[in-house]
Amino acid sequence: MKPFDMEHSAWARFSPEERGQMEAYSVNYRHFLDTARTERLANKEILRQAKAAGFKALSEYTSLQPGDKVYWDQKGKSVILAVIGSKPIVEGMKIVGSHIDCPRLDLKAMPVVEKNKIVYFKTHYYGGLLKYQWVCMPLSLIGVVFTADGRQIDVSIGEDPEDPVFYINDLLPHLGKDQAAKKLSEAITGEMLMPIVGTNSTEEKTKPTILSLFKDKYGIEEEDFASAELEIIPAQKSREVGLDRSMLMSHGHDDRVCSYGNLAAILAAAPGEKTQVALFADKEEIGSVGNTGVHSSYFLDFAAELLALQGHTEELYLRRMLRSSEVLSADVCAALDPVFASAYEENNAAKLGYGICLCKYTGARGKSGSNDANAEFLAKVRQIFNSSNVPWQIGELGKVDQGGGGTIAYIMADWGCDVVDCGVAMLSMHAPLELVAKADAYSGYLAYKAFFESK
Ligand code: MN
Ligand code: MN
Repeated sequence: MKPFDMEHSAWARFSPEERGQMEAYSVNYRHFLDTARTERLANKEILRQAKAAGFKALSEYTSLQPGDKVYWDQKGKSVILAVIGSKPIVEGMKIVGSHIDCPRLDLKAMPVVEKNKIVYFKTHYYGGLLKYQWVCMPLSLIGVVFTADGRQIDVSIGEDPEDPVFYINDLLPHLGKDQAAKKLSEAITGEMLMPIVGTNSTEEKTKPTILSLFKDKYGIEEEDFASAELEIIPAQKSREVGLDRSMLMSHGHDDRVCSYGNLAAILAAAPGEKTQVALFADKEEIGSVGNTGVHSSYFLDFAAELLALQGHTEELYLRRMLRSSEVLSADVCAALDPVFASAYEENNAAKLGYGICLCKYTGARGKSGSNDANAEFLAKVRQIFNSSNVPWQIGELGKVDQGGGGTIAYIMADWGCDVVDCGVAMLSMHAPLELVAKADAYSGYLAYKAFFESK
């Protein structure tokens, strides 16, 4: 197989046997998509699979030997998995960094409001999304509530086919003259993203009736919403797309398509010379902030703890290890959409179905904010993919002056690591339902596994 080939899709280059493996992989990926619906549920599912494969908590180790499998659970919203290499950790790690948070609507702290006897949720959107896309579709409510007396209550409404769902209304076209004249970004505003929760009450007000339904089902009061993380996402599980079933539609491909590839790769990879590390971070979509995002200290704390278990407690060893470490920043990139061709530069745009995408730089307005990977490291990664038959392509987000984006790459580059963005190309990024090619999702898994196993 020719790993780099912009004339033939990865699907065409895979052997019948590889296509079979790709289909089996996509079944497992869909199970992950349909289970790991929030960052907390992704954390739980990743830890479940890791523990089943023999990973143990860092606190269970008093020293580390080659082949040992370690996990770190960062507050139930981010996970790090490590497989200790045959060389000392201080000689550097092979890190694949992905994220498990996704664009969505979060409930506000006082979310339940009533207008004209209709009860709504007030929401604040999370991540960069096109607000007009979230109206008139079935929506689920998933998340956790912590009560003042210390109970955790898991909430899930809309996931079971028999469940009710929520719905954000839009104006009918018959009355849409003023709305239609507005800019697309202003036709639906953030404060208008109010899912309808209920309308029925025998009382003068509807809100108390709705609150009593929450009380009956979950034992929670209105005040409990103040200490909750409740997310509104599409009430739609993953589906195959196209008569040839070559694509998958789902909420949260960004970045579960890379996160699942990362998980499957570290579970399948043969232990290497270098210590292999799979990061599943939170908060990437809002700038990697907070103590579950990559700007926080927890990744470095985990790395320092690993070094300490091999006898290196001074910070100097952490710094030595980081500058010898290599990172694939496993995050999605935009695939060329011919319908919107004018936003892309065709020669440097990734194409759906042509393999995992290497993206030298992201950023906007002249690469601003980008990691801009070193050419030497790109050459090394290219060689890994070529020698392991991983279909790969290059990709730039869009036309130079069109916009831009960012990933966790620059943060890990700040630590001294060699980093390049390497993720799955997709369509409709950040839409409620996003689209990827199965061949690209599978290529991501092959890429991360080859990287973990490389020298
Ligand atoms: Mn992403
Ligand atoms: Mn994103």
